[in-house]
Amino acid sequence: MDGRCVQLRAEVREFLQSEIDTGGFTPICDSWLRGADRGFSRKLGARGWLGMTWPTQYGGQDRPQRERFVVIEELLAAGAPVAGHWVAERQVGPSILKYGSQEMKQNLLAPIARGDSVFGACYSEPDVGSDLASVRTQARRVEGGWRISGTKLWTSQGHQADHLIVLCRTSPSEGAKHRGLSMLIVTQPATGVSIRPIRLLTGEHHFNEIVFDEVFVPDGRVLGEPGEGWRVITGDLAFERSGPERFMSTHPLLAEMIRRAAQGPADERSRLVIGELLSRLWALRSMAMGVAALMQKGESPNTEAAMVKDLGTRFEGDVAQAARSLFPVIPSLDSDDRFTNYVAQSVLHSPAYTLRGGANEILRGIVARGLGLR
Ligand SMILES: Cc1cc2nc3c(=O)[nH]c(=O)nc-3n(C[C@H](O)[C@H](O)[C@H](O)COP(=O)(O)OP(=O)(O)OC[C@H]3O[C@@H](n4cnc5c(N)ncnc54)[C@H](O)[C@@H]3O)c2cc1C
Repeated sequence: MDGRCVQLRAEVREFLQSEIDTGGFTPICDSWLRGADRGFSRKLGARGWLGMTWPTQYGGQDRPQRERFVVIEELLAAGAPVAGHWVAERQVGPSILKYGSQEMKQNLLAPIARGDSVFGACYSEPDVGSDLASVRTQARRVEGGWRISGTKLWTSQGHQADHLIVLCRTSPSEGAKHRGLSMLIVTQPATGVSIRPIRLLTGEHHFNEIVFDEVFVPDGRVLGEPGEGWRVITGDLAFERSGPERFMSTHPLLAEMIRRAAQGPADERSRLVIGELLSRLWALRSMAMGVAALMQKGESPNTEAAMVKDLGTRFEGDVAQAARSLFPVIPSLDSDDRFTNYVAQSVLHSPAYTLRGGANEILRGIVARGLGLR
């Protein structure tokens, strides 16, 4: 990391500490999924910390990937409420830059960079998650655009979204199911969209079932060429899978566990367990930085991203297990004790770590294909 990164890291840390000190937010585990706060997203936008790598003409800062990496690493370490802009800034913005029309770039990117735009990713469906190319949601051609009908499931932040990006079938697959798919952008509120909450184990409302009933989308809001949606979504998923959020969801708990270990008597077992976790964290971080560097060169490191996510999400679950085993507590979301609280948050969220963004078994298949083994 160069001098600019060191200075940037100090600035971000100072900002986050002052937000915590003044009650701007309370740190939580899995904050990039649970902690949606538009006001906080706007503060990041005002500081130029969203869309940092995008061209200045579209509201970005033209800064290198490694600087964005520093910002998101600090936000995740602090357990800051970043879920509102996460999908938009992480994957939709870069996909628009790569595949979007001039109109989309001009109108959709700057609001994301300001922290003013929430996107919901409508890819999964009932019975269709891992085998994404089998989506049944259809968009049929009508004058001036398309009409979408179908049901999507697990749409994170869909109830707060300004836009929904929807993977649909727009023409028959004719034996090759990856063909004939398209990515359409629906601006909310749109006639024909109904949204039903699906509660997490904790009772929180984070994701949704979304039904599209003949929802109209104009031609100008097809991302990429009609029928080429698979190419767009695989690039989108590389951005979704490779970042530090894939190994930092339980970071506030890891930090708290270290604090607890440091306060107690010297203990060989906790040193060994924590030492092993930290060396894994360091390796994951190096891998994720390697992926960011490949993205900086304009490459689509799908295999590498899948590897980071498979190893990283298992690490997140292992942090929760190690914390429980080293310092047994009765997990409680209502506890005043930070450690006990973080254990509860991490454990209740752990079924999601290896599932969201593509299940680990599927990722291993991608790695095997990337290595030429299948
Ligand atoms: C917290 C959370 C947030 C999410 N947010 C979104 C979102 O915003 N937008 C969105 O579109 N989706 C979202 N998802 C959905 C997520 O992408 C899917 O859950 C995931 O792709 C798996 O699909 P599925 O749930 O249909 O499981 P299935 O595909 O039914 O898989 C179930 C199990 O079977 C295994 N399996 C399936 N196929 C194979 C195979 N071929 N070989 C070996 N094993 C296999 C899987 O690995 C998994 O363990 C979210 C999920 C979670 C948990």
